[in-house]
Amino acid sequence: MIKYKTPEEVELLRKSSLLVSKTLATVAAAIKPGITTLSLDQLAETCIRDHGGKPAFKGYKGFPFTLCISVNAHVVHGFPSQYEIRDGDIVSVDCGVLMNNYYGDSAFTFPVGLVQPEVMQLLSVTKQSLYKGIEKVVSGGRLGDVSEAIQNHAESFGFGVVRELVGHGIGKNLHEAPEVPNFGRKGSGPKLSDGLVIAIEPMINLGRRNVKQERDGWTISTIDGKPSAHFEHTVAVKGDKADILSSFAEIESELLKQGIEF
Ligand code: MG
Ligand code: MG
Repeated sequence: MIKYKTPEEVELLRKSSLLVSKTLATVAAAIKPGITTLSLDQLAETCIRDHGGKPAFKGYKGFPFTLCISVNAHVVHGFPSQYEIRDGDIVSVDCGVLMNNYYGDSAFTFPVGLVQPEVMQLLSVTKQSLYKGIEKVVSGGRLGDVSEAIQNHAESFGFGVVRELVGHGIGKNLHEAPEVPNFGRKGSGPKLSDGLVIAIEPMINLGRRNVKQERDGWTISTIDGKPSAHFEHTVAVKGDKADILSSFAEIESELLKQGIEF
């Protein structure tokens, strides 16, 4: 059952989502070759707690960390570790916050150092596909409009759209109805109405769309070993233009300082 949010609830979801965005901007400022993914996790946890939030993923179904950090062929749900980030890596960082009983959820894939041009294109197309989906978040539309827009954009570049994992409704629960697939048919699925809040999160592979689960029981990897990208916003349906509750502005201005723009 879909739980529609009041305008007051949407504002609480915005606060949590913006703390996620601030946390990802902190990661953006710190990420560089030689840093361990575990130290990024610790930075993120400190940032969230200092601002009065709780890491939403820590303890969720037993997940042991604040961030999901998925490097290169890891798609999502990777564990922070002693792995030292290398020049040329792409690093997907997914973060969730619980504050005032409401969740926020957002993800960004960071290129580190000199990344192959085809992989940079994967990042830009995945981010674009998120915004193509968000353009279809209009009251009276259908969820399938969002899904199809994401799929069409990514596949038009020959990339693989992951199907096993999907976006989701979000509110007092991290994952609520409806599921938000990154593939589908225009005009299908639940109707979009004001007060629906969803996390839209395309996971797009450079190669084949197929994925597997690693032995840690969490990490999802591409089956062909090629890189994968992940971008996510928490978004509210509001009339004819989506209200994006999370923001990449601070992340992107941090990256711009490092000469990274895509
Ligand atoms: Mg997420
Ligand atoms: Mg999510």
